[in-house]
Amino acid sequence: MTEKVVIIGSGPAGWTAAIYAARANLNPLVFEGTYTQENWGSGKPPGGQLYLTTEVENFPTWPHIDSAIYHQFSKLALPPDRFALLEATYEEKSAHRGKRAVTGPEMMEYVRQQAANFGTRIVSQEIVRVDFKRRPFVLVPANEEGKEQPAVEAHAVIVATGARANYLGLPSEDKYKNRGVSACAVCDGALPRFRNRPLIVVGGGDTAVEEATYLTKFASIVHLVHRRSELRATKIMADRALANPKIKPEWNRTLAEVLGNEKDGVTGARLASTVGAAPLELEVGGVFLAIGHTPNTEFLKGQLEMDATGYIRWTTPQRTYTSVEGVFAAGDVSDSYYRQAVTAAGSGCMAALDAERWLAEHD
Ligand code: NDP
Repeated sequence: MTEKVVIIGSGPAGWTAAIYAARANLNPLVFEGTYTQENWGSGKPPGGQLYLTTEVENFPTWPHIDSAIYHQFSKLALPPDRFALLEATYEEKSAHRGKRAVTGPEMMEYVRQQAANFGTRIVSQEIVRVDFKRRPFVLVPANEEGKEQPAVEAHAVIVATGARANYLGLPSEDKYKNRGVSACAVCDGALPRFRNRPLIVVGGGDTAVEEATYLTKFASIVHLVHRRSELRATKIMADRALANPKIKPEWNRTLAEVLGNEKDGVTGARLASTVGAAPLELEVGGVFLAIGHTPNTEFLKGQLEMDATGYIRWTTPQRTYTSVEGVFAAGDVSDSYYRQAVTAAGSGCMAALDAERWLAEHD
């Protein structure tokens, strides 16, 4: 059987596309990715980047409410096997108490369930190869062991595989992820743990200066740690950041180790010098990595037009069309600029509508 539409990816873009496609009777099939340690470690678990964050305060419709209500809601809205994935949110020592916003994992479980409620079929496998030169398109999934499974054919495809934030790969960085180490200031910056504390941003590009500037709203001071003595960021953004009295550049420095403890999470950082100066130890409440993102498009090389960094190019303004007719792209995989949950969800909706119209025209 040839599928009408296959959706690859399971962040806000993928699930929103699925909800729209399912409600348009396209009977969508979603490849949500595999539940492997490797995918978690490399920043691309099913559910996407939101599955790696804590509270999401900027997605419209989720006001602060007592954590117990979210607990109750999850229990009622989700089947037991999916509720079990959230149990740590409510049960563990580090569980939230009192009022809070929705968490990323909760939100992704809710939207996944919403897609399933309308008949979306979900496969926990990863698409590892595609052939978009043939019609119908051919997609080859692989299971948790990486073993290729029988190919699937589809008339239309929505790619929503997202991007992953780059980390340096330090063991200490990994240890304190979500406990003071983050790669998204807009997502996490306003959390209580970062307020009125010194913070670090690592990087020298537009993301770094933007995140550093944003964090000055909450931090007592932001150390901008860059491995060179000149920023890569666009001049206007760099100048603005360097003129901000709450941003202190730490030139020619790299992050060598995140310091912390079990109770408090991040408490400091050790910086190495790239020019032979002595190491520097700073007391900080948080470390933000802003050293770029990598779109999850390795499996699409040679199949779709991408920019120099691997983001899929939309070929028509305000449309999710790619260089191959019938293949649409939504969310961070085609957006290196906004990169927000709500913009991803919006473009997922657009991709489903674009796919629906394209299928109707090519019936
Ligand atoms: P960039 O690739 O532009 O910058 C990454 C930064 O991280 C560089 O300064 C780089 O250092 C540093 N870096 C990379 N790897 C390491 C490492 N291993 N150790 C230490 N430092 C490292 O990524 P951005 O995310 O900043 O920007 C991506 C794109 O998005 C750009 O085109 C940017 O203009 C755009 N953007 C635009 C914004 C806006 O206009 N508002 C906001 C955010 C992004 P080095 O300079 O030495 O290479």
